[in-house]
Amino acid sequence: MPLVLPDSLTISPDAPGFVRTVLGDVPAAEMGVTYAHEHLIIDRSFTTFKEPGFELADVAKGVAELQQFRADGGRTLVDSMPCDSGRNAVKQAALAKGAAVNVLVPTGLHLAKYYPPGHWGEVYTEDELAELFVADIEQGIDAGDYGGPIVRRTSHRAGLIKIATDRVFTPREEKVFAAAAQAHRRTGAPILTHTEQGTLGVQQVERLRDLGVDLRKVVLSHLDRQPDPAYHREILASGVRVEYDSAFRWPEDAGNPTRDVVLTLLPEFPEQIMLGMDAARSRYWRQYGGAPGMSFLLNEFTASLRDGGFDDNDLHRIFVTTPADAYAFAQPQS
Ligand SMILES: [Zn+2]
Repeated sequence: MPLVLPDSLTISPDAPGFVRTVLGDVPAAEMGVTYAHEHLIIDRSFTTFKEPGFELADVAKGVAELQQFRADGGRTLVDSMPCDSGRNAVKQAALAKGAAVNVLVPTGLHLAKYYPPGHWGEVYTEDELAELFVADIEQGIDAGDYGGPIVRRTSHRAGLIKIATDRVFTPREEKVFAAAAQAHRRTGAPILTHTEQGTLGVQQVERLRDLGVDLRKVVLSHLDRQPDPAYHREILASGVRVEYDSAFRWPEDAGNPTRDVVLTLLPEFPEQIMLGMDAARSRYWRQYGGAPGMSFLLNEFTASLRDGGFDDNDLHRIFVTTPADAYAFAQPQS
């Protein structure tokens, strides 16, 4: 049964401010059921040259898949492909319009391995990177995705800053984190991080705190790949949000550690846990001939959480109120 939450579970309209979607700013109270870490368009790029299975370039297929997501109760998706890694703001806008859903598109930079050696993300200074991120957020994302020397800004602005660490903090990552923090302080835009198989979560939080970031506006991804509740508690105690997205990835004989960790921790941290698909490969999309499809969380996984004892209120926190709080812009600090 699709995830249809009762109308009585609405957010107070004066609570969370606005989110910046690819089609314009929207009151966060109107986000509705939200997936917190997605890949909707990944255009041909160095990233897809390295990982051909990542290519998700077909707007018509995306629209059809997201129309089903909408029919199953979904309203908003947070994309997580930042600058020059296959991002395409014009296609994202067409997708949002075609499927009548909200799409948030990031600025920021992904892991070094998704860029060619010597890429500008390595070369530019912290201040220069921050300038590019702020321009994406305030003016509009480059139609060429910062892939070449001529920048043609679209009317589609970035709604978050996506950054990443691999298994150690490299000098490049230190610099990108500092630039992201600077762009966050200047604009209030939220920050979404990639953790490599759930590692370095504590270090990411400490780094962002030291950089003056409002930790309620920070979302750590993929922590359920280390499904140890004690590790998550240490991170959640800081006030950051987490996003779990391995629910459909576990081998059948492994049980579902993502489900276990959500059922264990949501009662302790009711305002800090979200879910996403992170379906960055076409083989996860029905429209590309794959499985389980983008509606999985709204159908199978929701049913399995209800079997575990969750009610409408719990699901409302995971899919509606926490994403609205996490992805609404903070007050700029300068
Ligand atoms: Zn991702």
